[in-house]
Amino acid sequence: MSIMVTRSSMPKLEDYIEEIKPVFESHHLTNMGPVYKKFQKQLIDYLEVPELSLFANGHMALEVAIHALGLRCEGGEVITTPFTFVSTTHAIVRNGLKPVFCDIKPDDYTIDTEKIEELITDRTVAIMPVHVYGNLCDVEAIDRIAKKHNLKVIYDAAHAFGVKYKGIGAGNFGDASMFSFHATKVFNTVEGGAVAFRDRKYGEPLHELKNFGIHGAEDVTEIGCNAKMDEFRAAMGICNLRRIEECIAARAGAAGRYNERLGNVPGIRLCTPQKDVLPNYAYYPVYFDESVFGRSRDDVFEELKKHDIFARKYFYPAINEMTCYRGQYNRNTPVAHDVSQHILTLPLYEGLSQEEVDRICDVILG
Ligand SMILES: *Cc1c(COP(=O)(O)O)cnc(C)c1O
Repeated sequence: MSIMVTRSSMPKLEDYIEEIKPVFESHHLTNMGPVYKKFQKQLIDYLEVPELSLFANGHMALEVAIHALGLRCEGGEVITTPFTFVSTTHAIVRNGLKPVFCDIKPDDYTIDTEKIEELITDRTVAIMPVHVYGNLCDVEAIDRIAKKHNLKVIYDAAHAFGVKYKGIGAGNFGDASMFSFHATKVFNTVEGGAVAFRDRKYGEPLHELKNFGIHGAEDVTEIGCNAKMDEFRAAMGICNLRRIEECIAARAGAAGRYNERLGNVPGIRLCTPQKDVLPNYAYYPVYFDESVFGRSRDDVFEELKKHDIFARKYFYPAINEMTCYRGQYNRNTPVAHDVSQHILTLPLYEGLSQEEVDRICDVILG
């Protein structure tokens, strides 16, 4: 049986049917109906964030957040990292802003806060760091830098659902944080996403911009888009949220088995647990140092494939080396380049058994 890199968590069909019954009675399918509102409230409680707006997907949530925070301006620059999913950069560029790539740290792959300030110019409007793999950025250092230079901070927290730092939910840092509920994420609504934020003044622009910029009943004040979450996805979210603890616990079990098998292998580098961070086991990234391990990342990837096991070169290539961005923005990010050449994320999902983890590790270590 083949093993894919991920497999979506799903509720029992009966639970979902139960949750969408009222929608079939009311015919209220979308436009922030009662299921949306119920799910929104549950998420605010679970993520322990002050405010939250739900979206059709994480990407549009990020794109609209940049717009809603008033960052759009001629020549504006946003400091971000090239070691992420391409959505992060697309959201900046599609808002007419320029991404300025900051390098990452070699241990947890998040933005290297020591290198942010040298990239700040009088055109910088924001920092957009990524809690990559659910590893939290140095939120305290980023906060200090942002305050000192009067910059907004939007976190791409697509991977950080349920992660906490010193007991505080990941969605509480910066001006806004985007969570993705895509089918492949720790928590899913099929497709979906959210923006968590603290300042209530962002509630109205987020709400209006995801609904065409419609303001009141008879006017349109902004050039918005359509990125609303519908009632069916909200119902899926309600069902999956009920199971989130067991889902994360199952991932923790599989990750623990990987740690046992791969923890002390020369040439294999794993992410070490972060201090004061409650993790969510979103991904299992492994760095292969060919000169010590004997085989390269690509060798291991191909060998796994021969055994019907599908890992993912996530993230490769680095964003500033992709065809759509190559040559347009700065590429002096050597750590991100190096990591993208050596990293492989191994299968990890609820339902991945210890025997399957062993089968994967046997091939890697074989
Ligand atoms: C998944 C993801 C997104 C986009 O979220 P979607 O819900 O798929 O639109 C953005 N950034 C990162 C880092 C992601 O992994």
